[in-house]
Amino acid sequence: MKVGIIGTGYVGLPTGVGLAELGNEVTCIDYDSKKIETLQSGKLTIYEDGLEELFCKNVETKRLKFTTSMKEGVMGADVVIIAVGTPPHPVTKEADMKYIYSAATELAEYLTDYTVVATKSTVPVGTGDDIETLISKKNPFANFDVVSLPEFLREGYAIHDFFEPDRIVVGANNERAKNVIKELYKPFVGKTKMLFVKRRSSETIKYASNAFLAIKIHYINEMANFCEKTGADIMEVAQGMGLDSRIGPKFLNPGPGYGGSCFPKDTMAMAFMAHKNDVDMTLIKAAIEGNRQRKKQMAERILETVKDIENPKIAVLGLAFKNGTDDCRESPSMDIVSELINQGADIIAYDPKAMRTACIRLGNKIQYADNMYQPLKDADVLAVLTEWDDFRKLDLHQAGQLMRHKNIVDCRNLLDKEEAKANGFNYQGIGR
Ligand code: NAD
Repeated sequence: MKVGIIGTGYVGLPTGVGLAELGNEVTCIDYDSKKIETLQSGKLTIYEDGLEELFCKNVETKRLKFTTSMKEGVMGADVVIIAVGTPPHPVTKEADMKYIYSAATELAEYLTDYTVVATKSTVPVGTGDDIETLISKKNPFANFDVVSLPEFLREGYAIHDFFEPDRIVVGANNERAKNVIKELYKPFVGKTKMLFVKRRSSETIKYASNAFLAIKIHYINEMANFCEKTGADIMEVAQGMGLDSRIGPKFLNPGPGYGGSCFPKDTMAMAFMAHKNDVDMTLIKAAIEGNRQRKKQMAERILETVKDIENPKIAVLGLAFKNGTDDCRESPSMDIVSELINQGADIIAYDPKAMRTACIRLGNKIQYADNMYQPLKDADVLAVLTEWDDFRKLDLHQAGQLMRHKNIVDCRNLLDKEEAKANGFNYQGIGR
């Protein structure tokens, strides 16, 4: 099939690569000419495990193309996928729809034969109707349907999740559109659970899922606070809870709070939608506030270990919002580091993948290291903020020799607590 994808970010690019790999003719469109030039020159603009190999392969076979021209990507396409951002509105915190609306308006005039316009961006309930109206207004002759096709990929596992999704949800209001999407996802039929629902249900499933996961993280973080007061160990508690198939083991890792480009903005957007519809969603509101406080609490915990030291030097391991990605959007690390800087600490940080993206946000307010040992030199405390596997291998004996004071605040419970203690560290994990 011929597919146009609008937006070549963390969703659009892996989706484009994946659909090309399945044999489709894919054109990725982005108005960011720098991104398109980079992609056209055969280089990637984001880091994702396994993306590079498939990207190169499909560019070479010419099944995957990049352009800034909406016309080139949309004209003659069977399916046009909208994968632009829906960031929080700067004032109201609802989903800011300006990118969606402008993409819908721009694509309208290039719709020729019957086309399915599918929204992969996370959009408020009712957006499909708005897109329909916008397109019809701009091009009254357009023959099209709008489908909701929410994306559930996890950053860091985008390629894995593209080829082995837990489920594919399709919100289509008629059979014709449904059949086009069935054709696009033919390789998954019989292998993956496909759920066909009303468009408004599909739009809601995405927000309901993300808000639920955010609440689960908030819950385990509160439970970790409880364990700290009572002598229980949250890792054991989480393990015991996770063995219950009704609960499941995922999203029960205590940490510095949820982050990334989705949970923070989607919980806020969900709370806004609930308020607008006169529904009081107390759990979501509690998770949003609890998560805000969580990052503050983590910064306070780190600062407490160096409270008697003038100009403390803090070694930070981990800047990305989670492992496997270079994405620092809403990373707890960014908020925690900013708070540490505000309190007068010197920071030197290392992340295996996110140094470039962190630098865009933090600039020269911190120093950046080349490896995970460099920040430790003369540091007064080590703060572990992202759960990269590499950090598990940190040689704690060597770390102890490099540091000025042997303090560790392990916000991910990644290091071996007993080994840290045996090496003379004042070790603090989370909830234990
Ligand atoms: P992103 O910011 O990484 O990428 C969006 C891209 O769209 C940018 O490259 C931007 O230049 C481009 N763009 C915006 N308006 C455009 C227009 N009119 N024409 C052409 N290009 C345009 O965003 P993302 O992380 O890929 O997220 C996209 C959507 O998918 C969001 O709604 C997000 O909530 C949702 N989502 C994201 C994830 C994730 O893990 N990042 C997972 C599921 C769903």
